[in-house]
Amino acid sequence: MEQVDVAVVGAGPAGVAAAAAARQAGASVVLLDRHAFPRDKSCGDGIAAEGLDQLAALGVDVRAVTAGYPVLHRIRLTSPGGSVVDGRMHRSVHVIPREVLDARLVGEAVRLGAELRQHRVRSLVADADGVTLDGTLRASVVIGADGAESVVRRLVDRPHQQATRTAIAIRGYAAASPQWPGTQVIVMTDAHWPAYAWTFPIGDGRANVGYGQLLQGPPLSRAELLVGLDRLLPDLGPIEGLRAAHLPLSPGRAAVRDGRVLLVGDALGLVNPLSGEGISYAVISGALAGRAATMPGDPGTTYRRALKVRLGRHLRDAALMHRLNRWPSVLDAGVRAAADDDEMFQSLVRFGLADGGVTLRALRGTVRELSHGAAGSR
Ligand SMILES: Cc1cc2nc3c(=O)[nH]c(=O)nc-3n(C[C@H](O)[C@H](O)[C@H](O)COP(=O)(O)OP(=O)(O)OC[C@H]3O[C@@H](n4cnc5c(N)ncnc54)[C@H](O)[C@@H]3O)c2cc1C
Repeated sequence: MEQVDVAVVGAGPAGVAAAAAARQAGASVVLLDRHAFPRDKSCGDGIAAEGLDQLAALGVDVRAVTAGYPVLHRIRLTSPGGSVVDGRMHRSVHVIPREVLDARLVGEAVRLGAELRQHRVRSLVADADGVTLDGTLRASVVIGADGAESVVRRLVDRPHQQATRTAIAIRGYAAASPQWPGTQVIVMTDAHWPAYAWTFPIGDGRANVGYGQLLQGPPLSRAELLVGLDRLLPDLGPIEGLRAAHLPLSPGRAAVRDGRVLLVGDALGLVNPLSGEGISYAVISGALAGRAATMPGDPGTTYRRALKVRLGRHLRDAALMHRLNRWPSVLDAGVRAAADDDEMFQSLVRFGLADGGVTLRALRGTVRELSHGAAGSR
């Protein structure tokens, strides 16, 4: 049977980061994906600076990966109750269609020495010394980077996300609005809360547009998602390339267990419950798992510890935000407070797009605005 050090299942951002990190440590790496690249992926296409920093640290040529696509410096948030904050972010965001981004990233993984194969993984047997995939490939460690509907997660029997910790979103491409050039626009709504629509320009006169909401009852149809989009961003004109997918939110993530099968990115369930962002967490967790796979000791234990150090605070605060988010008034108050306080605005952005936590200043500002709101309504 063929033997490698690390087999990575899934060649999205998490899989590429895992492959690059394992290669950086000198391991032999096979990177498996059921699709040939380029392939599309339902996404808002926004990639935060922290995700790119992590890729650069793994040896990925980030300049080549981002070439030709816009950097957005501003973000405009409309809260469920209609308050607005529009500001310049300390760290900018790239918007790159995933069809392009992922193909470029896969190219980088190959350049760094990973062996790419088109193959759909269907079976996995783990024992004390290694893991066998589909009866033909034996690896010391397998990294499951196969996305929200992860087969690896199911094969190793990690509990699935609870429905109330999963969101669904649809995205497409429409004409960019001339009203907000160079800006990530997010419009929230208290109808079906938590829910929001977005428009992110991709630099060629078009924008990635979409709508997502938390799953709280029966599954949502494509038509219902499009009604949500039209309600929040009317007059978008024709929309091409519509595609919906689930977002496994981090408060419902799977457990990180000991052993030789590590889950990363959406397969673990690391999407930010406030913003729906997942690429940075995919890349960060991929890098940690790729490194853990090459270190002495139990790979699962090493990975769990590293994840806790790197993202523990963010994940804990994300779970808190997910609970508080039941009340749209909390986000209304947070957005109002951020409109008057740049430090709070920057911390809100860092929490929504990267590894930030909830700061004391943000909590105080939100509580102050909540009590003003309560006083105003008496
Ligand atoms: C509509 C929408 C909008 C979003 N907008 C944003 C955004 O703007 N910014 C952001 O940061 N995040 C966003 N996200 C979240 C983001 O898309 C994900 O968090 C991110 O793609 C996770 O990366 P990943 O590598 O873990 O998984 P994926 O990108 O899903 O990659 C998984 C890979 O695994 C492969 N695969 C699956 N099964 C198998 C198998 N059995 N065998 C082999 N290969 C397999 C797939 O082909 C795929 O290439 C959005 C998500 C949605 C649905």
